[in-house]
Amino acid sequence: MGIFSKRSVSLLTKHGKEKVIAEVLGTQASCFVIQTDAYDTDLLGTFTQETPRYGSQLDAARKKAAIGMELLKLDLGLANEGAFINDPYAGIMPWNNELIVLVDQQHQLEITGFSSGPAQNENGYISHWEELAKFADSALFPSHYLVVKPTDEYHPQSRKGIQDLVELKDAFEWAKGLSSKGIVYVENDLRAFANPTRMENIRKAAIDLANKMNSVCPECSTPGFWITDVKRGLPCNACGLATDEEIAKIWSCLKCGYQETEGMKVLRFADPSKCKRCNP
Ligand SMILES: [Zn+2]
Ligand SMILES: [Zn+2]
Repeated sequence: MGIFSKRSVSLLTKHGKEKVIAEVLGTQASCFVIQTDAYDTDLLGTFTQETPRYGSQLDAARKKAAIGMELLKLDLGLANEGAFINDPYAGIMPWNNELIVLVDQQHQLEITGFSSGPAQNENGYISHWEELAKFADSALFPSHYLVVKPTDEYHPQSRKGIQDLVELKDAFEWAKGLSSKGIVYVENDLRAFANPTRMENIRKAAIDLANKMNSVCPECSTPGFWITDVKRGLPCNACGLATDEEIAKIWSCLKCGYQETEGMKVLRFADPSKCKRCNP
């Protein structure tokens, strides 16, 4: 039985994240997720410009985990923090990184789960209802909720969590009335309960976390034994030049420093299509 089995773990969220996180950690790591919303996490940052995020993505997640543990008087805490950026490949697609941190005060241990994927994160400047109806379709409304603001994304007033056409029409008229040029800003609501694409990514981050919680060091049995580095430079099969292809994965223990190298046992070569000399 692992060190997390049958333990209660706090989760501070007011955005419904416990639905996916509790299910994954309950079934895959045998712990009981206890949700609390006794602290307003929007004070640590919002996606809608009111409040900048508290530090880095990991800083914000650690802070939420600490507050949740304190509120529920538990020595095991969880928290999630999301980030929305452009995709790491071409830099043009909306992208979402989800991080979940597990803090175990009893064992002085911190494990993180991560998932990264395309985001449903569109925005637009709208003057006519017909345009807004078209935007709503492409933004996957109503399964994904919308946010409406007068003028632009920096306007201090907003309507959030819009989930049906009547509400959308009402918000549009309201924002148009407050906008100096009659322009309305609209975007996907990125809060977890309002954005099923994001919620699914949070589920994947929880699965990643559970896998790490279940992976123990062969030397000292500490959970979180995982890949910490990837060595690249596999030689090209045609000319022998080092490519960017992977040679080996390095697995490390969080506690005792034990390491294992995976992938070095057989001599391998990279396909010449991956070689800068053979296929420039
Ligand atoms: Zn080559
Ligand atoms: Zn170890």
